[in-house]
Amino acid sequence: MNIRVIPDTLTRLARLGAITEFEPAGDAPLSERLTLQSRPAPDPDLLPCVTHVTTPQGLKPVMKTMITTACEKNCYYCPFRAGRNQMHRETFSPDELAAAFDKLVRAGVVEGIFLSSGIIKGGAAVQDRIIDTGEIIRRRYGYRGYIHLKIMPGAEYDQIVRAMQIADRVSVNLEAPTPERLHALAPRKDFGDDLLLRLEWAQRIRQTNPERRWASTVTQFVVGAVGDTDLELLSLSARLYRQLGLKRAYYSGFSPVIDTPFENLPPTDPQRERRLYQASFLLRDYGWDVEELPFQGEGNLRLDVDPKRAWADAHLLTAPVEIMRADREVLLRVPGIGPQGVERLLRARRQGVIRDLATLNRIGVQANRAAPYILLDGHRPPVQLPLF
Ligand code: SF4
Repeated sequence: MNIRVIPDTLTRLARLGAITEFEPAGDAPLSERLTLQSRPAPDPDLLPCVTHVTTPQGLKPVMKTMITTACEKNCYYCPFRAGRNQMHRETFSPDELAAAFDKLVRAGVVEGIFLSSGIIKGGAAVQDRIIDTGEIIRRRYGYRGYIHLKIMPGAEYDQIVRAMQIADRVSVNLEAPTPERLHALAPRKDFGDDLLLRLEWAQRIRQTNPERRWASTVTQFVVGAVGDTDLELLSLSARLYRQLGLKRAYYSGFSPVIDTPFENLPPTDPQRERRLYQASFLLRDYGWDVEELPFQGEGNLRLDVDPKRAWADAHLLTAPVEIMRADREVLLRVPGIGPQGVERLLRARRQGVIRDLATLNRIGVQANRAAPYILLDGHRPPVQLPLF
């Protein structure tokens, strides 16, 4: 007699886990991920379902999973695309996912969930199942922690309202910076109607009832597969930060997947991802305009130097900033001085004259990085050249 053993949900999730790395959850950028991977695994079998993401409450281990890995769309870079017949597909019900998540929370394995999906029978149908899962987690299991829900292409306005009530964060992944680039990446997605409109709705929902607590919004770009430039990616990011209240743009370097139309394209240099994050933080947290970023002729940033330093080399080496007199915006242009450091610096200079790098270090400024670009009480500080 043949006995068919049906694997439980956690086993199926663990099996699915590694493949969900292709479904970015707002994961920590590569540089952060490398340090996090060395954390001990609470349960090695389940490790692939757990990712570390930046949440409004800091970095957390989060269960990352999908309602289904089947999909009717054919995005050229994606392992879940329609027609990849060798790919094992899994589909979960909202009840199954919510119960599995509850088990992991009780076992202390995760402190949140990121829930996405492939698309079957249209984005709105899948969105219902994503929302149902979130509702069950909140209501049946009384979970108050971090929930991140994906907004599917084609989701309806009322669905986005509900998702933003349930979740702490929602993501609408634009994937590409222009309609043309999106067409080259994902020919069955419409940049304006399917995606950008949903980000506009999210902002409208927040503005219609600003007193209420709504989920924040993030987006993600696939970088480097179809000729997209840093200028395109960062111009759109700046617009989304300023006009649509976007909390964070994620830049995911393209990585080829076998048995997809892009399998022979080269992967994107991880350094490009890093430079995009640095430039994106200048736009979001430092008040920079995109025109001020030091793009090269073809619209990309240099890979060998961070954009703030490249700008400072061009503008501040010959016109250093006087630390005792410069205003906040100018101080923030100096490498080694960030939003927190500048506040401490402004407080410290009200107490007395800052004359040396050691004092700057004590305040929390990275004095050696700042040294080539500043004056301390009218004098250039000694610059320590790097050994290598
Ligand atoms: S919609 Fe595109 S990116 Fe999303 S799962 Fe389907 S094929 Fe992949």
